[in-house]
Amino acid sequence: MNGGCSSDVRTDTGVPDERIKIAVIGCGLLGTRIAGELCLCGCAVAMYDSDNTALSTAVSRIHQDWEHLRTQGLLLNQHPQANNLICASSLEAAVEGAQFVLEAVVEDLQVKSDLMRRISSTCSQTAVLGTNTLTLDITAISEHVLHKQRLIGIRFLYPVYTIPEVEVTMGGNTDAQVLQRVGRLIEHLGKVLFVRTGDPLILTPQQVQSRQIAWKEKVQAQQRDRGPGSHGGLNASSHAVVSMLQHVHSATNYRTETEDNRHTDSSPRGNECIICTERERNCLLSPCNHLCCCMECAKSLTNRHQNCPMCRTPIAEVLRVFIVGQTVPTTSAMATT
Ligand SMILES: [Zn+2]
Ligand SMILES: [Zn+2]
Repeated sequence: MNGGCSSDVRTDTGVPDERIKIAVIGCGLLGTRIAGELCLCGCAVAMYDSDNTALSTAVSRIHQDWEHLRTQGLLLNQHPQANNLICASSLEAAVEGAQFVLEAVVEDLQVKSDLMRRISSTCSQTAVLGTNTLTLDITAISEHVLHKQRLIGIRFLYPVYTIPEVEVTMGGNTDAQVLQRVGRLIEHLGKVLFVRTGDPLILTPQQVQSRQIAWKEKVQAQQRDRGPGSHGGLNASSHAVVSMLQHVHSATNYRTETEDNRHTDSSPRGNECIICTERERNCLLSPCNHLCCCMECAKSLTNRHQNCPMCRTPIAEVLRVFIVGQTVPTTSAMATT
């Protein structure tokens, strides 16, 4: 596989293309993983980012991720279909014909609502619009969207590939049928629907780790069942469970576990900001003392007068912290509070 981009979706054989068509907008760390996972699950994915460099990097990043998963024994489908993935030359091209449009751009209400408004005016009228947000209000994002009843919160949890839960949040305008369609998609992906009704679903590094171990066992079991030389895609019949969960764990548990394991978790990931999932967590929100996000995201929370994403306590102060063993920050990262 060469990881190259083609500009249109087509099948060479003339056989009708029955793949679910999904556009993923925003090629940051999370967006690329969502796109990569959807490809592995047999969807036809069109990616787009207004930043050309991010878009071209995304393809090689996805192939690197697949290779990493393979070497770790975490790749269910040993022959990932690279031709499920295309890079679109424009937003309009990406969303054309898509049944689902998922955005994973920066956590900013203005940016997301502008993007969704633009998407809604050019994509199919029946396409489901999924916005990936931890802290923003779904109803507010949908405000200027055409057919706003189809906008819904769909949040994949980092690092996506090995995490079964997908958090779905209904907005004030969201149609119940849209939730059903998203539920069927999540089932098709072999993932678990988590309907958010209160606090967001946030996994501790230990919970992420235990899901990875469980995933590895599932891959091993599947490989034993198939035998060598056999390869097929992941499908819904495997272990898909759709359940309505509430409050998987409390914010209090989260805080205790983080503090207990702060010095023992050597994983380079698992310490990422729960909002942007790109940078390391490096600040305490006061007075609740949750260590859950990076300084940049904390600042945008306070600028918007938003509460702690973990416990909803109003944020009075943001404190930069330095964790033992953490990379020495550069001057530019040492934002003042
Ligand atoms: Zn962040
Ligand atoms: Zn808090």
